[in-house]
Amino acid sequence: MFEPLPQYPDHLALEEEILAWWDAEHVFDRLRERNRGGPPFGFMDGPITANNPMGAHHCWGRTLKDVFQRYKALQGHDLRYQNGFDCQGLWVEVGVERELGLNSKREIEEYGIAEFAQRCKERVAKYAEIITDQCRRLGMWMDWDNDYYTFSDTNIEYIWRFLKECHERGWLYKGHRSVEWCPRCGTSLSQHELINSYAELTHPSLYVRFPLEGRKGESLVVWTTTPWTLPANVAAAVKPDAEYGLTDGGDWWAVERNPDATFVRRVRGEELVGQEYEGPFDSLPAQEGVVHRVIPWDEVALTEGTGIVHIAPGCGAEDFELSRVHDLPVLTPIDEAGNFYKKYGEFEGRSTQDVEGPVVVELERRGLLVEAGSIVHRYPICWRCSTPLVFRIADDWMIRADEIRQPMLDANATVQWTPDFYSKRMDDWLRNMGDWNISRSRYFGLPLPFYPCDSCGRLTVVGSLDELRGRATGGLEQLKELHRPWIDDVPIRCDCGAELKRVPEVGDAWLDAGIVPFSTLGWENPEWKEHGYATGAAAGLTGADLPDHAYWEKWFPAHWVSEMREQIRLWFYSQCFMSVTLTGKSPYLSVLTYEKLLDEHGREMHRSWGNAINAAEALQNIGADVIRFMFCEHVPSQNLKFGYRPAAEIRRRLLTLWNSVKFFVDYANVGGFRPGPEVPGELQPLDRWLLERTEQLAAEMTDAYERYWTPALIRAFDSFVDDLSNWYIRRSRRRFWNGDEVALWTLWYALVRSLQVIGPVMPFLADYLWRRLRAEDATDSVFLAPWPEPRARDEQLLHEVAEVRRVVELGRQARGDASIKLRQPLRRLVVQGARSAQPHADEIAEELRVKEVEFGPVEAMEVRVKPNLPLLGPKLGKELGAVRSALEAGEFEQLAGGGVRVNGRELAPEEVLVERRPRAGWALAEDDAVTVAVTTELDDELRLEGRVLDLIHQLNSMRKDAGLALTDRIRVTLPASLADLLEHADWIKEEVLATEIATDSVSEPEIELQGSDPEGV
Ligand SMILES: [Zn+2]
Ligand SMILES: [Zn+2]
Repeated sequence: MFEPLPQYPDHLALEEEILAWWDAEHVFDRLRERNRGGPPFGFMDGPITANNPMGAHHCWGRTLKDVFQRYKALQGHDLRYQNGFDCQGLWVEVGVERELGLNSKREIEEYGIAEFAQRCKERVAKYAEIITDQCRRLGMWMDWDNDYYTFSDTNIEYIWRFLKECHERGWLYKGHRSVEWCPRCGTSLSQHELINSYAELTHPSLYVRFPLEGRKGESLVVWTTTPWTLPANVAAAVKPDAEYGLTDGGDWWAVERNPDATFVRRVRGEELVGQEYEGPFDSLPAQEGVVHRVIPWDEVALTEGTGIVHIAPGCGAEDFELSRVHDLPVLTPIDEAGNFYKKYGEFEGRSTQDVEGPVVVELERRGLLVEAGSIVHRYPICWRCSTPLVFRIADDWMIRADEIRQPMLDANATVQWTPDFYSKRMDDWLRNMGDWNISRSRYFGLPLPFYPCDSCGRLTVVGSLDELRGRATGGLEQLKELHRPWIDDVPIRCDCGAELKRVPEVGDAWLDAGIVPFSTLGWENPEWKEHGYATGAAAGLTGADLPDHAYWEKWFPAHWVSEMREQIRLWFYSQCFMSVTLTGKSPYLSVLTYEKLLDEHGREMHRSWGNAINAAEALQNIGADVIRFMFCEHVPSQNLKFGYRPAAEIRRRLLTLWNSVKFFVDYANVGGFRPGPEVPGELQPLDRWLLERTEQLAAEMTDAYERYWTPALIRAFDSFVDDLSNWYIRRSRRRFWNGDEVALWTLWYALVRSLQVIGPVMPFLADYLWRRLRAEDATDSVFLAPWPEPRARDEQLLHEVAEVRRVVELGRQARGDASIKLRQPLRRLVVQGARSAQPHADEIAEELRVKEVEFGPVEAMEVRVKPNLPLLGPKLGKELGAVRSALEAGEFEQLAGGGVRVNGRELAPEEVLVERRPRAGWALAEDDAVTVAVTTELDDELRLEGRVLDLIHQLNSMRKDAGLALTDRIRVTLPASLADLLEHADWIKEEVLATEIATDSVSEPEIELQGSDPEGV
């Protein structure tokens, strides 16, 4: 007996059941054991930040990772299965700040950096556990007890080593520049953190006068959307070759920007250069001694503003660059929290937003305000806390990128990207990448091992914990891990003898993630250390080993990595940067990348919009298999619309597979069928076809897995299940009723094989069904069975049946278009094209319920041709009427290429409008190569048969509604009005499993179970 299936799958329940069973039977451990020593397949997991539960979008990448790891394992590869957690940096800090209600760096310091670090670690531990549970529920098989955590001392040491290498190559420098700064987080952001982090914001829009020195009544007019920068103004820039004019009101504008004004004088911009002006806030102590003047700048835009640009080098990147060229003073008005410094008078201590009002009031009072309004524009915001960014001058630690740019491009050329155009995206990023800003003025992050010396001017970069210990002058006893505040209490000795302190900055989190191809694989580590990765903050969280160098040689570079497209400028980049620096090679050989997850209407998901679905909700309401199926079906280079409706649609589609398995189980149990290794008799042509079709599926799926192209997996599987259900089972129904063992065996074999190849996509359903269908000597899990080896196939047979199905589809379509239901038999079908379907004419006739099937030209098509008047009118003139009548009368000849001969003239294809339609009495459908036409006229014989089929359908529905078993025999009673159908009594009996059929005085057909008491029904 096969264990019967319920009517419908309960995905959630069966997934829980399979999860528990996998655990109880150690299926994953057994798989790893089986594959140990097999050919390695290196996969490197991009770390997920252990800072929140997973979102639905995380399930996308996690699905792809698991699908291909499962596939490679089924093929016998040895895998590492190491999961990674990202654990330090701004994400975690901001999360903890929210948790504790802290809202500035001052408040963190008051809370205590040690305590704060402790909270960060607790948060990571908590979410690592939650994420692990969610990944397990998604079906992800990973070595969950041996994850890597990027805040381990080992990971940090490897980054130190990389930084020391950069320093030795002369790439490390401290940049004094204007940077985008988050006043809430109190740190700068780097180039890769800025992309896509913008919001539509409303800001003031001010037109302000700068009165010119020595030219009474004349002022420059500038435009600004950042009033807070005016107190730091030192210059005004004009475009040297643009035309500027003085209005009758005494204001200087670029003429192009104020075309309606009356200008009393016009000059070229260069003539204004050098002119001094009165600054807007000259009385502030910070402005003391500043001489404001007009400078030339070719980049002044004439598309907005006044054509005169207010320059504050302390508040803008371009302004800062100009200050170097023109030797301008740099005023930095705000501190790292975005508040004004002391020398800014009444603005002192206030935020950039708070000073907007007072600035406007003051300008207005002094008659300097031309106009004040507001503007909505795209403005950069902090990607972590959404605070609008400001520009500040900061000293950041940078790694020079120029020297490594070409080697990275060369390394990227060795990588196989899927989809392949992402390779170019990576190249574009590499060509444009600026120097890497690696420092953040924060607390819980990678401590930068930089020790500058004031005495000798040297910078010492510590490359390892041993080196730190060797150089330390104290504080080692309290150094419990490589984090602030402990690391800051370990001063070291400079080569010159001076005692040095570490810089206060921590590192960019992408250093943490970028080093993992080295830190987790034991690069240049002389000796394997058991649990050696579980150091520092990671102690107690993981059992991961620190392998030795031989292990690194075996597993580096990764065969495959997969993350979302955004990671091109993040993890793919940082990994590649560090790897090319240390080894000259790309750390991965192939990449699968994918786009963004949106809601089912195509909008971004946001908690505040009420349309976000997190992983927990998705897993609870949709189930893992359906989620995985949805991600696999999707073309990864397009954004995915995720939601409950698309999920319900997939659940509905999966019913075809479920129903096919259920059909098999039900009939196999009726006949007591048990599958053996060999087919129990002679295969019929349709059986042979299904076996070939099954081979084809395995080959197509293998090919798609090899190409990392999941949409092809789903396409191949869907089409196979459709063939199996809507062709093989439907065409073989009668054999199943008769308990035909060869048909049962063939169907069983096809189902079992298909479960094997779809297993990586839907592991739960596949194993659930496998466990019901498997032969006694088969492995208990589908994931322990060997991958089906592809063999040669009978392509001719596959082609023939594909053509038959194509003809049948078109035939159905033709009937549908003519509104003739499939239960109504028809007389004749003509097929043009699809010659290889000809040997199967009988099957086509049966499927489409037609009496005769013919292959040959379809003449049921009527071609009507009309003149294309706009072209032919002028050309034919008076002759047009005659041509038109000839066309209407059908007196024309169609020419190859689409033209027409009529009235002795040849008309070109574009000169006529050709309309094709079926002749009266025919229905017709065609695709690019096949045309199918069917007669629609009915005669008495056809009508009677149509009614018989209606009755059969009705009786079978009644059997189903009465809950009869497949084998139950019935007696049928018909009303007298249906007596003429008894001409086909034998046919009806056979189709509805009736032993008797008779008429009586009933108003509707009735059935009763044979052998039961008629009174009792
Ligand atoms: Zn921020
Ligand atoms: Zn020194």
